[in-house]
Amino acid sequence: MTAQAQTLLKEIFGYNEFRGQQAEIISHVVNGNSCLVLMPTGGGKSLCYQIPALLRKGVGIVVSPLIALMENQVAVLRERSVRAAYLNSTLTPGATAAIEQGMLAGDYDLVYVAPERLLTPRFHILLQRIPIALFAIDEAHCVSQWGHDFRPEYGKLSILPRKFPQIPRIALTASADAKTRADILRCLDLHRARTFTSSFDRPNLCYRITARSNGRMQLLDFIRNQHPGEAGIIYCQSRKKVEETATWLNANHVPALAYHAGMETVVRTRHQKKFLQQEDIVMVATSAFGLGIDKPDIRFVAHLDLPKSIESYYQETGRAGRDGLPADAWMVYGPSDIIRLRYQVESDTEPVSIPIRQAAAARLNALLALCETTACRRIQLLEYFDEPSDSAISACGNCDACLTTTPVQDATIAAQKALSCVYRTGQNFGMEYLIDVLIGKRTDRIRQWGHDHVSTFGIGRELSVEGWRIVFRHLLALGYFTTGEERFTLQLAPAARSVLRGEIRIKLRLSPCHYAISHQPISTDLSASSMPDSRETRSGI
Ligand code: ADP
Ligand code: ZN
Repeated sequence: MTAQAQTLLKEIFGYNEFRGQQAEIISHVVNGNSCLVLMPTGGGKSLCYQIPALLRKGVGIVVSPLIALMENQVAVLRERSVRAAYLNSTLTPGATAAIEQGMLAGDYDLVYVAPERLLTPRFHILLQRIPIALFAIDEAHCVSQWGHDFRPEYGKLSILPRKFPQIPRIALTASADAKTRADILRCLDLHRARTFTSSFDRPNLCYRITARSNGRMQLLDFIRNQHPGEAGIIYCQSRKKVEETATWLNANHVPALAYHAGMETVVRTRHQKKFLQQEDIVMVATSAFGLGIDKPDIRFVAHLDLPKSIESYYQETGRAGRDGLPADAWMVYGPSDIIRLRYQVESDTEPVSIPIRQAAAARLNALLALCETTACRRIQLLEYFDEPSDSAISACGNCDACLTTTPVQDATIAAQKALSCVYRTGQNFGMEYLIDVLIGKRTDRIRQWGHDHVSTFGIGRELSVEGWRIVFRHLLALGYFTTGEERFTLQLAPAARSVLRGEIRIKLRLSPCHYAISHQPISTDLSASSMPDSRETRSGI
């Protein structure tokens, strides 16, 4: 078998050697066994079911959630003379019937189907009449309600082990935490099957997450200094921001194209083609861009806005450096990202249960913790995917935390000042206003509210506005602040008490630019009067 697989690898796919666990997985499936494959994006999951489908009798049925992706895969396979087809809602009834006839006649080795198609009684009858090589369930994390990409039709795939218990099932995903993994095993009845886990580490990617001051200018500096004339992807949250950023980059002599779901298909396709063919183009896109994109020489992925989970961050950054050469995963983020994403989780209008909402909130908090960590980003990222790190290694040497010379400082006092200032001004104001109070700026608004007379007025002159933004962002990210009815006003969360009492120490990296010109260290103790006293701390906050 190994020799046959090797021949197919070379003759059809044009590769000399299997990568990582591919050979082992293929041999396992060819022998009629089921399995779960956890492999990072770009690891080479497709061959793990394509080659067994070619080697085993009958047709390999591939369940895939994304129409564009299945069309692309089938086109590539056909170019390589593999007998492949797809069935999804874009086909006319006539075309569908023709493919179904072809399946009955044994014309195909691989057929990609949308999950809803697989679930129809009509399709079941068809499947019962033909030999099936295997079922491959791509993006298998979609079965899990806990996952970041739940699709109800995927949940119904539990019908496969019941109706076709003898046919090997191979479930594949690039992201599955322990809970999601358990759901996949349960849904597809893979408890007795083997799990193949590859490392999620991408050692050639350098992770950097920076405080946003002026996102665009920071991006332009980053491209000019680190990646002039190179290909990259820039992710933004909104379509409007995608277009504005692309226009702005072009005006600044960085060739850039836009891509988002609201654009006409022809334009989108043209942009995608150009990006794939040219070496020096930057693609500015929403998260709609990138699935199935296989461009090996993307030198950077930049995020101008925070994605919604570590899974998304990992998948999106994973598109850089597929060729194994050094590449950057760069992101700027600030307090507004946190407020926006928390609001999205809380105001999600879909009728989801409380545990599911809590799971979404937990995913966001994990991402925020990654952004706020002062320790190695890579280790934290891999731990999120339950990958045990070598306990002897505490730093990867290729992320901003490992590379920076800025020391970690105890910023507990600054944090206490920020929290007290929120309390003293009535928990009804936004961050910029509060910073003005802390640095003692007598604006009209501050005078109107009489906040130039509160005890926290001017007690924070040691830090610059940027420095204070970092303190506030950190407290917001770690849940010491909540936002009020109006999204941008800050209030104290119950956990703030432990910081005010000094039971929890706040650690931050603050560089010289985060201090005021006078550059005083943060050593001033809070005067007793500016702190909420213990009685207030117990009852009021
Ligand atoms: P995934 O589905 O895990 O994201 P793919 O199956 O799309 O990854 O493979 C990613 C890229 O790696 C593709 O360009 C594929 O052709 C290439 N690839 C896969 N296996 C090998 C191999 N054994 N040798 C060289 N390249 C490979
Ligand atoms: Zn590191």
